[in-house]
Amino acid sequence: MKNGRTTQVLVAGGAGFIGSHLVDALLAEGARVTCLDSFLTGRRVNLAHLAREPRFDLVEADITAPLPALPRFDRVFNLACAASPPHYQADPLHTMMTSVVGTHRLLELARENGARFLQASTSEVYGDPDVHPQQESYWGNVNPTGPRACYDEGKRAAESLVFDFERVHGLDVRVARIFNTYGPRMRADDGRVVSNVICQALAGDDITLYGDGRQTRSFCFASDLVDGMMRLMHHDGPLGGPVNLGNPHELTVADLVARVVRLTGTASEIVHRPLPVDDPRRRRPDITRARTLLAWAPRVALEDGLKATLTWFADELAERARGRPA
Ligand code: NAD
Ligand code: UDP
Repeated sequence: MKNGRTTQVLVAGGAGFIGSHLVDALLAEGARVTCLDSFLTGRRVNLAHLAREPRFDLVEADITAPLPALPRFDRVFNLACAASPPHYQADPLHTMMTSVVGTHRLLELARENGARFLQASTSEVYGDPDVHPQQESYWGNVNPTGPRACYDEGKRAAESLVFDFERVHGLDVRVARIFNTYGPRMRADDGRVVSNVICQALAGDDITLYGDGRQTRSFCFASDLVDGMMRLMHHDGPLGGPVNLGNPHELTVADLVARVVRLTGTASEIVHRPLPVDDPRRRRPDITRARTLLAWAPRVALEDGLKATLTWFADELAERARGRPA
């Protein structure tokens, strides 16, 4: 509630994997939520359970184009952007425009509305990091001309826009630097490692391990991430810059694959594929700022999160086999 009335929230990218969980959490808290999404990578099925929810509405629009007429908002979350490498590299120009032109449009909207703004940024702003674990003060090691640049540099430009709106217009802003997140509602064809490996294991297909598998990642379960994003949006005191949100439990990609193989008991073979260009060698968040400022830390252990994701994908693949559209 804000001044005795229901808080009105915009979630751009709300039909996607993380966005749809965020929409659920906001509705559970009592907010009125508008999801704005182009369905580039998002799916209607992620929001189908809200069809009769009176505090929810859906606007189909692309944030790179002028925005349609919208209600007034108290809070704006910007999650709109394809997040998996195959998807964001499929149309790199659109990915860059989404982060730059799209974020600018949403910042203007927040300014007109006097709304608080939260940008979903990414650990990719650290690139292939020379500093480990990554603290928010690290400026990163990003290839500005490679195939990942449309996403990494787009998100870096978006951060710059956000903090210029704070400096120039006094907008109330927050930036979440999100590290690898997984869970139910990822797309089977998303292309990221958790969804690939789980779907391959469940289908008995070859499991694709890129490179030698010694590169590391730190995987955060979706509910933990959404809790962190909500706390970041609610926080009233000064933040003094971006905040990392992720799970500091770091492991090699080969170890992740081995865990999924063990949990599923699959007979799938592990096959090696070339490491993608500019694939970061290691990544682990330092979450001291989130712990201190937001009293936040992830609670879901990798084993439990993987089990929940496996169960969800098994149901999802069965539904699809019965003929439900993807
Ligand atoms: P996702 O692809 O499932 O969701 C992105 C959503 O944005 C989709 O619903 C898509 O249709 C929508 N979208 C994309 N471009 C748009 C445009 N131009 N206009 C309107 N809508 C558009 O990805 P996700 O994993 O849910 O990621 C959500 C956000 O979190 C993204 O901004 C991503 O960069 C960020 N993030 C995610 C991760 C992760 O591990 N999942 C890590 C770091 C950052
Ligand atoms: N990866 C892999 N097999 C796959 C998909 C990805 O080994 O089928 C690797 C990828 O090269 C990277 C890691 O897993 O080292 C995480 O990849 P993802 O695309 O999930 O996230 P990001 O690279 O953006 O961190």
